[in-house]
Amino acid sequence: MRRNGVWRGALVGVAVAGMVGLQGCGQVETAGQAMPVGHDSMARAGSAGAQWLTYGGTKDEQRHSRLSRINTGNVGKLGVAWTYELSTGRGVEATPIVADGVMYVTSAWSVLHALDARTGRELWVYDPEVDRAVGAKACCDVVNRGVAIRDGVVFLGVLDGRLEALDAKTGRLLWSVVTVDQAKPYTITGAPRVIRDMVLIGNGGAELGVRGYLSAYDVKDGRLRWRFYTVPNPDKRPDGAASDEALARLANPSWGDRGAWKRDGGGGTVWDAIVHDEVNDQVIFGVGNGSPWNAAIRDPDGRGDNLFVSSIVAVDADTGRYRWHYQTTPRDNWDYTATQTLILADLPLGPNGAARRVVMQAPKNGFFYVLDARTGALISGDAFVPMTWATGLDARGRPIETADARYGDESRLMMPGPLGAHNWHPMAYSPDARLAFIPAQEVPQAMHRDLLMETRPVAWNTGVDFSSGFAPRLPDGTIKAVRAMMKGRLIAWDPVARRPRWTVEHDGPWNGGILSTAGGLVFQGTLKGDLVAYEAATGRRLWAMNLKSGIAAPPVTYELDGEQYVTVATGWGTAFALAAGFFFDREVPPALGRVVTFRLGGTGTIPDHDLPMIERRPKAPAFGDARLVEAGFRHYARSCAVCHGPLAISSGVLPDLRWSPVTADRAQWREVVLEGRLAGNGMVSFATQLTPDEAEAIRAYVLDRANNPSG
Ligand code: CA
Repeated sequence: MRRNGVWRGALVGVAVAGMVGLQGCGQVETAGQAMPVGHDSMARAGSAGAQWLTYGGTKDEQRHSRLSRINTGNVGKLGVAWTYELSTGRGVEATPIVADGVMYVTSAWSVLHALDARTGRELWVYDPEVDRAVGAKACCDVVNRGVAIRDGVVFLGVLDGRLEALDAKTGRLLWSVVTVDQAKPYTITGAPRVIRDMVLIGNGGAELGVRGYLSAYDVKDGRLRWRFYTVPNPDKRPDGAASDEALARLANPSWGDRGAWKRDGGGGTVWDAIVHDEVNDQVIFGVGNGSPWNAAIRDPDGRGDNLFVSSIVAVDADTGRYRWHYQTTPRDNWDYTATQTLILADLPLGPNGAARRVVMQAPKNGFFYVLDARTGALISGDAFVPMTWATGLDARGRPIETADARYGDESRLMMPGPLGAHNWHPMAYSPDARLAFIPAQEVPQAMHRDLLMETRPVAWNTGVDFSSGFAPRLPDGTIKAVRAMMKGRLIAWDPVARRPRWTVEHDGPWNGGILSTAGGLVFQGTLKGDLVAYEAATGRRLWAMNLKSGIAAPPVTYELDGEQYVTVATGWGTAFALAAGFFFDREVPPALGRVVTFRLGGTGTIPDHDLPMIERRPKAPAFGDARLVEAGFRHYARSCAVCHGPLAISSGVLPDLRWSPVTADRAQWREVVLEGRLAGNGMVSFATQLTPDEAEAIRAYVLDRANNPSG
């Protein structure tokens, strides 16, 4: 849509400015009988049993449990068994791992808590003591999605790029390796996966500018076994890595020889989905967006696909050598990562309805893909949300882009936006109902080229301008109208029939990940703090409870002493909440981390949060003329909005600058913004990208917002 044309495009662009992305067979354990963790076979393909041993429940990562003591007939009797405070106000995205009666759950800043899974009693806490200044490198809050466990050892990815092994009984550190160049804006938020005697970990950072890769380390000592780079190095030379042959043959020719990718690393980070396909003895992983986002800036004279950005890639499990790839979004231009949940399953898609092993994904770009797991061949790809960027897939499986999709100097309304039709919130698959459950959303975003893009070491660097063409003040009703356009839903997708069987509409986007169970249930939390159980076959709502904190993380289930438990980590934070909590200004519950565990007949209660109220009034009068405020708006959108909220309205996860005493005082503002006085809290100095005059202009804009609220 043209900038001065249809109102909806401009409207969304204004309010969403800066909010973008801102990503059955052979169980051996017996229900109720906790066996020592140490058998690789325990986490085999298929459904999860009494324990929850891997990120996705099993190696196939279906997030489907075969436990059925809690079922459609009795779920109404679910009550609180115990709660545990994670003591953080930042984002919580963790999948708890439950092994040998112990729950391992991670929280903000990569802090790991080991709890008695029956009672919630704390056994030990491991804090890797991440330098809070690293928080500025985290595009999407200082979150962690969970650990891996094997043979009494817990593996933890740390925000600053470390991979660590801990004694599962005591939390004692066994080994620690640095997996990234810590001088660059890499972070780790994803869960490691253990595959045979290796632990695999990727990283993130493509919003700020890095080169992505997946690494395999020896479980014993953290020695690097193999590494697969997803995009070329700037010189297109061999790295001496497992990816050398694939890059030389496939990836290097798909990139041009100049452009911002050489400086910014090209992106392609492997920040979430990694699955072990045991049947084909391979690792399949999802690759993220290009860096910078804007392909015309990233690779100006290239016409290639920029492999392997936004791709699903399979490599040999032992060597990391390339097997196949399928690129969901050739020459990505929109932050359409393909890092979302990868699920392996057997579907009746072979000749005469024979079982065919497939891998499924619903990535940000809005298509639900079913691929042959052995070959990577596309079986089907269908839109599961409305979209403006493509009209379908062609005969070769490539998206048919719309004429406006490759935005230039004029604003275009992109659906999905960079937050994706589905982000990191885990999808689940029920082999019983033969349905994939997608935590889907519609969050459009107006995008156009950032004409002023330059190297900005502490800031997002996407080549997309989140503010240009918009005004610091908004007509009344703007936010309400934009909010009405944003939707969230739970879609039960039939991967064989290639359409939804049922859909539940939520009040808004960014709801929690999914758990499916053999009790015929689907569990999902909502941004507004309700944990809900639906009937898997129909989507009928059977039970719900408000947990007094937003929910983004996926629930899991386990069984001990004949009792089945359902548990979820609450606390919302995360990319959307940091940047767009203002859509839910008065409705979103406090963002406090807590583990809440349920059982049938549980009679526990969820404590109220005792939070100090922030005095919502300006602490100083506005100053400066309209030109200064306008300049401040532009710099705010570029440097501040992704953490403190577009339009200077914060969700409360990070300070709302309008009401801060720091904003009221010129000298204090300068100390914080330019001299790093609060670096210990994660607010590093922005002196490398803001001049003193620009910083003061931002202060003028924020105080204008505080004293003249609009929108
Ligand atoms: Ca991204």
